[in-house]
Amino acid sequence: MPILNKVLIANRGEIALRVLRACKELEIKTIAVHSKADRELKHVLLADEAVCIGAAPSTDSYLNVPAIISAAEVTRANAIHPGYGFLAENADFADQVEKSGFTFIGPTADTIRLMGDKVSAIAAMKKAGVPTVPGSDGPLTDNTERTFEVARGIGYPIIIKAAAGGGGRGMRVVHNEAALINSVQVTQAEAAAAFGSDVVYLEKFLQKPRHVEIQILADGQGNAIHLGDRDCSLQRRHQKVLEEAPAPGIPDDVREAVAESCVNACIDIGYRGAGTFEFLYEEGGFYFIEMNTRIQVEHPVTEMITGIDIVKEQLRIASGMPLSFAQNDVKFHGHSFECRINAEDSQNFLPSPGKVTTFHAPGGLGVRVDSHLYDGYTVPPFYDSLIAKIISFGENREVALARMRGALDELVVEGIRTNTPLHQDLVRDRAFQAGGVSIHYLESKLEG
Ligand code: ADP
Repeated sequence: MPILNKVLIANRGEIALRVLRACKELEIKTIAVHSKADRELKHVLLADEAVCIGAAPSTDSYLNVPAIISAAEVTRANAIHPGYGFLAENADFADQVEKSGFTFIGPTADTIRLMGDKVSAIAAMKKAGVPTVPGSDGPLTDNTERTFEVARGIGYPIIIKAAAGGGGRGMRVVHNEAALINSVQVTQAEAAAAFGSDVVYLEKFLQKPRHVEIQILADGQGNAIHLGDRDCSLQRRHQKVLEEAPAPGIPDDVREAVAESCVNACIDIGYRGAGTFEFLYEEGGFYFIEMNTRIQVEHPVTEMITGIDIVKEQLRIASGMPLSFAQNDVKFHGHSFECRINAEDSQNFLPSPGKVTTFHAPGGLGVRVDSHLYDGYTVPPFYDSLIAKIISFGENREVALARMRGALDELVVEGIRTNTPLHQDLVRDRAFQAGGVSIHYLESKLEG
């Protein structure tokens, strides 16, 4: 197979290990780059080569583009996998990687740019037939009469969003006309300060939606397929906590129609790589909110129900190979859950870095653990608190959930605090067990 032969992994933690495992399977050599605080990371110890790229703060290391490019040059890598977070959706980084003669494992810089701007992303999706939220169809202007008109046409409440926003920031809900113009101006000012662009738009605010997303794979050679959907409605402060695939209770025809529209959009924009279309789902309708142009934390639940290794497919696509299967070859089977285990207090959510004195991963049929933890590993205080993903699979939702309950009860992490008790509570929660809770459910439960 004319595949990449040496991949630099520009990330850390569980996803760096995940990428390393896929590379090993394909007999691709790996280079780990790490900060001074991360010498003991599991994938650093397992990689063929390791390069220290800077001090502990991410700005000095995992976001340090010149250091990463020089590491690729020195080690003669031929491709760079960005993982998620850090530089994964940074179009300038993708450009820089390609200009330096390496393959960026992801879409083109132009695609990342198109999807990074929510106004252009929504316009591209609308054009391709993907259902979007009723909205202003473009940026708001100084013409306040026009803004009033658009909002009136949609009906309150509406939400004002920054085109360059991300991470749940740069958004404001408006409940009535009296608050509209002031809210637009405040959001513009905040967006200018936070994202360097004051472009904002407005759309209908959905009151009790679910978060349902579609995983796609495209080879940039005219072929695209979808791998079904995931429900990621259990969120706290816009951060996903527990995910599942498939999303429960969605009629097959609705599910298929939206997935097909995503596939068409991929072909329309010449998408290459793995990607996720995020939607809000309310009362039988799907509404596109954004596209993520990278591998996602929750990709394993899709792998469990399709048997397809998404990271391996990313590596194949980046090697210039066409997709090796068609939509008809994708068979959906069973149900899968993923619990994100964080190094944080399960009551007050304060980070809890430190030395892990004991780590016992759960096991058994239908249980998968993606984690870089080991006995004696010290969780540094500088990065994301995700330390393990516990993934369960079963022939149906009940079996997968029962296995998750067992797996969580088996998990032992000593020396630091984790949010495992929260997950143990959630997998026994009546409403969650019934399926289909909204994106507000977890926060209202925590307040309650
Ligand atoms: P970000 O890029 O910051 O993650 P998104 O556009 O994905 O921004 O929106 C983040 C979250 O904000 C959504 O998951 C949802 O909870 C809420 N949200 C965004 N748009 C709407 C909307 N039109 N109606 C209701 N909630 C919304």
